[in-house]
Amino acid sequence: MPRYSRIVILTGAGISAESGVDTFRAKDGIWSKVDYRDVATPQGFARDPDRVHAFYNSRRRGLASVEPNAAHAALARLERAFAGTVLLVTQNIDDLHERAGSSRLIHMHGELVRALCANCGQRHEWSDDMDTDHPCPTCHSAGFLRPDVVWFGEMPYQMERISAAIALCDLFVSIGTSGNVYPAAGFVEEAKMAGAHTVELNLEPSEGRSHFAEAHYGLATELVPAFVDRVLS
Ligand code: NAD
Repeated sequence: MPRYSRIVILTGAGISAESGVDTFRAKDGIWSKVDYRDVATPQGFARDPDRVHAFYNSRRRGLASVEPNAAHAALARLERAFAGTVLLVTQNIDDLHERAGSSRLIHMHGELVRALCANCGQRHEWSDDMDTDHPCPTCHSAGFLRPDVVWFGEMPYQMERISAAIALCDLFVSIGTSGNVYPAAGFVEEAKMAGAHTVELNLEPSEGRSHFAEAHYGLATELVPAFVDRVLS
């Protein structure tokens, strides 16, 4: 494999699937059980905040029973051992990348373990259940706390930093994402325009398959450690 110096990696639900976290669009995925409009839109939260809190409380509690897998561990190893820069951009709201040891990490769709106050705009670490009675630890107003996750119709976080990194990268790798949700689904085209080599590692071809110069299909826990070995060799 040629020598790269600036890598951007995008991950999606597929990297956490073998840890036991449900993906979204699979036949038995999260969106087959709940309507995303009810639990993942600002309108759904305005209509029924208790329902939305219950959905994310259950997912937050679920973090206690899952562990990072070999794919998360391989990306943390890449960050430690690579001579150039690695930026990991995840669409996942779980905390498995940081628990595996990754630190140059952007949660572009937010984090389950954080709360955002819609009144004062402050963010707080949050490991317990959340409900409409909780006062914000900063402004002390109740009724404004929401999970710090990006819902459909909202702008993902740190887009400028992500675009700047993609514009300079020479290797872009997309792992475990179906390529349905923009802007993340468009990163591969930005990377191609920047002249980067583009690689897809996924269980099956994604929507964006034709944009990738190289693709490997199979389990993330097998593909990602092998790919990291190649990059580091
Ligand atoms: P997805 O469920 O659409 O796709 C998962 C992908 O992973 C699929 O392509 C599948 O083939 C692959 N996969 C499954 N198991 C795998 C394995 N073991 N190894 C390798 N690949 C595997 O998930 P996505 O692409 O992450 O979904 C897009 C985004 O929609 C989500 O990340 C999520 O952030 C987002 N979204 C969610 C919410 C929310 O819940 N609040 C809100 C807005 C957006």
